Amino acid sequence: MNNEKIPYKIYLNENEMPKAWYNLRADMKQKPVPLLNPGTLKPMKAEELAGVFCEELVAQELDNDTAFFEIPEEILSFYKMYRPSPLVRAYCLERKLDTPAKIYYKFEGNNTSGSHKLNSAIAQAYYAKKQGLKGVTTETGAGQWGTALSMACSYFDLDCKVYMVKCSYEQKPFRREVMRTYGASVTPSPSMETEVGRKILAEHPGTTGSLGCAISEAVEKAVSSEGYRYVLGSVLNQVLLHQSVIGLETKAAMDKYGIKPDIVIGCAGGGSNLGGLIAPFMGEKLRGEADCRIIAVEPASCPSLTRGVYAYDFCDTGMVCPLAKMYTLGSDFIPSANHAGGLRYHGMSSTLSELYHQGLMEAVSVKQTEVFEAAEYFARIEGILPAPESSHAIRVAIDEAVKCKETGEEKTIVFGLTGTGYFDMVAYEKFHDGKMDDYIPTDEELAVYRAKLPKTE
Ligand SMILES: *Cc1c(COP(=O)(O)O)cnc(C)c1O
Repeated sequence: MNNEKIPYKIYLNENEMPKAWYNLRADMKQKPVPLLNPGTLKPMKAEELAGVFCEELVAQELDNDTAFFEIPEEILSFYKMYRPSPLVRAYCLERKLDTPAKIYYKFEGNNTSGSHKLNSAIAQAYYAKKQGLKGVTTETGAGQWGTALSMACSYFDLDCKVYMVKCSYEQKPFRREVMRTYGASVTPSPSMETEVGRKILAEHPGTTGSLGCAISEAVEKAVSSEGYRYVLGSVLNQVLLHQSVIGLETKAAMDKYGIKPDIVIGCAGGGSNLGGLIAPFMGEKLRGEADCRIIAVEPASCPSLTRGVYAYDFCDTGMVCPLAKMYTLGSDFIPSANHAGGLRYHGMSSTLSELYHQGLMEAVSVKQTEVFEAAEYFARIEGILPAPESSHAIRVAIDEAVKCKETGEEKTIVFGLTGTGYFDMVAYEKFHDGKMDDYIPTDEELAVYRAKLPKTE
């Protein structure tokens, strides 16, 4: 196909939007191993999970075999308010880099919450409502998930209680106000409201919190409040399932113009946007229909895939959640306080961990100053102010495009531009003022956390 015919933005029309989510696990020969009950070390049963999570979400979580889940009509009509999202051909970036590579990005920042997280938030709120619940609790780190969930809950008239990692709560007062605008209540974590919060504060006075702590608080609140369940914005299978809408749209848009990716790149925190973006491409790979390189990009300051171990670990600091087998740095691991680029979670989706373990996916880690250099470069050329998280993917997309220039290869590169960075200007400010450094944990430090992994055998 003649390149000139590919528009800057490829949009699908409403009828071309996916009607079902795709469950990657259905095509995996070697499935991810089950979640374990931390007390008995036996696989978690649906009944046990149902005390914490909504019923239908538990069913999605445990289903390794059903390839497609129909997207309920109510969710589809919400999706239509901000989807399909554009697949953008980065012509300006290509020209600036003077690369023969063709670069595309799938932009998920076109909604008020500013990221892909709304794709799963609306699904989780829908199932909570359908089950007749009063509300949901959750944690939020940088604030995108809390914002997305607040929007979703207000749409379905559900109560929403958010535990926000304390350092973000203080750094991002406007994020907090957006959540309150959508009716959520927001508590800085660790807090004195929960037993686990009080315990963490007693052990680490003055801590600025972590996602792991906030998860523990939100879970405790949900299980101790009548009519509430806990919802999580990443890591879990159900979240990857909902996020498959990103990859399905990307593939449909590419198919429309006969484009095949050579490299698919995504940033990886808990793994939901990456798992969603790569889903149909990895599916083809698993079924032996097509092949491409898939690259997960993580921060050098929180390198779970590249420097973690593949083991059962707690999903949270308070050790109240089930054990998941994943690439992990240890549930006590908290990235350096001057790490500003997001993606701070200690573990990685167990599905992505298993795919990585099987060698079906690559991972690289990047330093935060290099990430912000890429973010600024991209902003100046393509116009969009990217989220620091998304900029990890931008960094590696640029690096791969530069390699193509050296080798003269016309590779097609697709990356996930997961969100916008309007609420991350404190981080950009640090970068501009030269106050950002590249803290990388030493092997000795990582060994301390690794030694504390739970023994499951
Ligand atoms: C939360 C977030 C991420 C990382 O989360 P994943 O679950 O790994 O996708 C990436 N980009 C943005 C903009 C986010 O808000």
